[in-house]
Amino acid sequence: MLLLHGGTGWKEVGEDTLLSINECSERAFGLNDPLEMVVEAVRCMEDSGKFNAGIGSTYDLLGGRSLDAGAACCGKIGAAANVKATKNAVLLARYVMDLPPHMVAGEEADRMAELLGLPPLPPMSGEKRKQYEERVKKLLGFVPEELTLEILERLKGKEEGSGTVGAVALAGGRLASATSTGGIALKLPGRVGDSPIFGAGFYADEELACSSTGIGAKIVKVMPCLRLKSKLKEAGLAEAGREVLEEALREVGPSLGFIAVTRDGQAFWGTNYRKMVVSFKVL
Ligand code: ASP
Repeated sequence: MLLLHGGTGWKEVGEDTLLSINECSERAFGLNDPLEMVVEAVRCMEDSGKFNAGIGSTYDLLGGRSLDAGAACCGKIGAAANVKATKNAVLLARYVMDLPPHMVAGEEADRMAELLGLPPLPPMSGEKRKQYEERVKKLLGFVPEELTLEILERLKGKEEGSGTVGAVALAGGRLASATSTGGIALKLPGRVGDSPIFGAGFYADEELACSSTGIGAKIVKVMPCLRLKSKLKEAGLAEAGREVLEEALREVGPSLGFIAVTRDGQAFWGTNYRKMVVSFKVL
């Protein structure tokens, strides 16, 4: 069983986006190890340029990019946050899983990716740069060259929009999950979201695998994957999933979508924040 998401918060979803997620699902479904499946699914979406991860990652307030990812399977987790030069943050998170327990971030994490021979993040496309300039001008009235106190003050009270990628898989009785994101458009440089945080953006144990999307700083207040896990003691996955979405809506407003599978073969996807792109395959 393999379930992918291409982020929530979408106002409209184009045909090419759906084609792309289905293509990645198809590629990854051919593998039989759940960890390989989720990593390949996420890598494929990172490379597609259609989602807010890898090549398609969104820009920060100064027009830079930074990526976060997490992966989990079989009692191990790995996470990489705030990487700026690595195309596939999920591959770095996957590598970290095999180290003594670690989560890595920043320049040193990029250096590690370079040592491993992971592909570098290519420059932002001209189209994306144009989009950035238009949006930042709308927000601030100009294209900033550096962060100033005045800019910080003006950001107070502004709402955020979102579009991450993630996958969960069940194969051979084992569960895995992976999540990767470029974060939130016009975020502050240095921001870290929920995606590399276990229990919030990604989660897998012997019973449940989960991957979230939405507004990171709100998601960590809810810890949706952990909350889902605790509700599974008393409810099936569908009921538990709906409850988590409703509670999150009440507590932090529309901001969250997630996908999940359980070891006994239940699957759930849902969002309380506009539309979420998903693809589901089961044998
Ligand atoms: N959750 C991601 C973050 O806050 C963004 C997203 O899901 O689109 O970094």
